[in-house]
Amino acid sequence: DENALAAYASQKAITKDGYQVEVGANIGTAADALYAVEQGAEGIGLLRTELVYMSEASLPDEERQFTLYRDIVQVMGNKPVIIRTLDIGGDKELSYLKIPKEMNPFLGYRAIRLCLDQKPLFITQLRAILRASAYGKVKIMFPMISGLEEWRIAKGIVEEVKEQLRAESSSFDEKIEVGIMVEVPSVAILAKQFAKEVDFFSIGTNDLVQYTLAVDRMNEKIDYLYDHFNPAIISLLQNVVNAAHAEGKFVGMCGGMAGDPKAVPLLLALGLDEFSMSATAIRKVKHTINQLELEKCQSLLADVLQMNTARDIRLKLESFGNENG
Ligand code: PEP
Ligand code: MG
Repeated sequence: DENALAAYASQKAITKDGYQVEVGANIGTAADALYAVEQGAEGIGLLRTELVYMSEASLPDEERQFTLYRDIVQVMGNKPVIIRTLDIGGDKELSYLKIPKEMNPFLGYRAIRLCLDQKPLFITQLRAILRASAYGKVKIMFPMISGLEEWRIAKGIVEEVKEQLRAESSSFDEKIEVGIMVEVPSVAILAKQFAKEVDFFSIGTNDLVQYTLAVDRMNEKIDYLYDHFNPAIISLLQNVVNAAHAEGKFVGMCGGMAGDPKAVPLLLALGLDEFSMSATAIRKVKHTINQLELEKCQSLLADVLQMNTARDIRLKLESFGNENG
């Protein structure tokens, strides 16, 4: 019940046999950050900066963005804040940024693709993020990366912006980490190559499921096919976590799967380092983790890896949840 759950806000996310992970929040504003801390967030696993842009009547300038990011970073104190660069397009529109109508907007001109095409807009945002990094523990994350060249170009622009700021004697965190969302199947498949170059991964299951299964995440008519327990997804997740760890890199998840209590035992066993979710899900997930034993989760994973349908996996996880919750 609510009272029992409330206690978990201030608890660690640690299994009965002492295995600990990080639990963070997905947010858009400083008010969200305050609420997330109250709910027990140990960091921000995803700051959706498009929510900042969407709440403005015109393109926010560097100063405006800097202030908003800095406020959030200050609310979080020393806790990590992963700031995702603009992820517009797909289902998210900006009235003041004209994007031509496309046949398949989710496969089109969006997110990092748009930012690399509109470099001044990207540079303004990176300057604001880097300047905010002087006030806490900021990491930069690119959305919708689909190939290594794209990652290298985006990372190169971060280096250019750092050079500008140095030349102006503006302060920023020289050791700032730069990572990517894993939400396009090509990246999940080539995770080994990406892991050699990026500082961290965060898996975006909302899009990864949509693109891997070719199921529009907004289309209710086919939502029975949209399932993060599809064995193809589990296989990709395993590949991504193993590839990251083989290179000693941190791997989190900020898609909806991270906040699904049924998925938690599986994700723990896979070795996910961080679970980031909407603030309202945090206490329940911490509670779930505290009832589990890693060893049992690992044998659950071994069983799940033998299964060939989402339905079998879901039933297995449901019965595991009932026995261990
Ligand atoms: C995702 O795709 O899983 C994700 C976290 O990003 P968004 O939901 O903003 O597309
Ligand atoms: Mg996404």
